[in-house]
Amino acid sequence: MIDPNSSHQFRFKTRSRYNLVVDQGLPSEEMSNRYSKNDKPVSGTPRKLKELMLKSDNRICADCGAPDPKWVSANIGVFICLKCSDVHRRLGSDISKVLSVTLDEWSDGDIDSMVEVGGNSYANSIYEAFLPKEYPKPKPHSSNEDRTKFIRSKYELQEFLKPSLRIVSSKMSFKSCESGKNFDSSFNSNNSRKAADMGEFIGVLRVKVIRGTNLAVRDMLTSDPYVVLTLGQQRVQTTVKNSNLNPIWNEELTLSIPRCYGALKLQVFDHDVFSADDIMGEAEVDLQPMVTAAMAFGDAKLLGDMQIGKWFKTSDNALIKDSTVNIINGNVKQEVFLKLQNVESGEMELELEWIPLDA
Ligand SMILES: [Zn+2]
Repeated sequence: MIDPNSSHQFRFKTRSRYNLVVDQGLPSEEMSNRYSKNDKPVSGTPRKLKELMLKSDNRICADCGAPDPKWVSANIGVFICLKCSDVHRRLGSDISKVLSVTLDEWSDGDIDSMVEVGGNSYANSIYEAFLPKEYPKPKPHSSNEDRTKFIRSKYELQEFLKPSLRIVSSKMSFKSCESGKNFDSSFNSNNSRKAADMGEFIGVLRVKVIRGTNLAVRDMLTSDPYVVLTLGQQRVQTTVKNSNLNPIWNEELTLSIPRCYGALKLQVFDHDVFSADDIMGEAEVDLQPMVTAAMAFGDAKLLGDMQIGKWFKTSDNALIKDSTVNIINGNVKQEVFLKLQNVESGEMELELEWIPLDA
């Protein structure tokens, strides 16, 4: 099983990460309000922070890749090295609030905001979403000049962030999703009927299940696989492909995306006539990069073909490679290549498409 706790955390922190980025565009007064609500100091390195530090993406500086960073920008949500922390500090605390993991006293609010963002790969998936491939990201031993130029471009000028993210922020209300830590349980019991009302949905997700590769053997020599997709209360599935470890489905499944959506869960099962179906692996798809980008860009029909977002491969997700969100012929699409988890082998290829409600 994929740890349900980690997936919840994932969901909330990605959503908050977006809000944090949006906050960068707000006047500094609003930023400081955000952090003044919980200013009780905490002594020593807080446990939640230590755990976060141990995640692989947080073991290197978010900006230059230097190992073992001991500083953070608490409002941006990144772990950074000493040299980069100097540059951050010079940006001013309204842009980057620099704290030492070991030396400073942390308020609960600062810790919460770090935990919500989750660290470097999440923050960078926003702040470097549009970093050109050839752009020289600084190295641990880069000159102060190169380091400063990059860090200013990244956080102060936000050159690699899609500017429209900020503009649309006021129209979007993810806040209501953020507060409930036990979102799933309340969703399942009280709000499922409410969610069935179209007013609760923000768009439609069409998933083309393209193919599986090298799937696991569950019968004597082969398997009879089918794919189940789950989003909140909704569950859809493909047909069964008999005796095939490399099935090609090319089947389209449709789900509605509620205002408070979590990860899309994919499971592959072996159909069994005589007993319960066996699981052949699973994976989670983070819908946030696509939904955020699609809502930020508005009517894709008016736009030419381009990349509008990216879901980054990390050690904590099932991606085989980075997955870009693109506008293709006026439609928002995302190809996703997944390595199935909790199984000996198997990969899945999907194509997601976002369909706005008012289309
Ligand atoms: Zn650094």
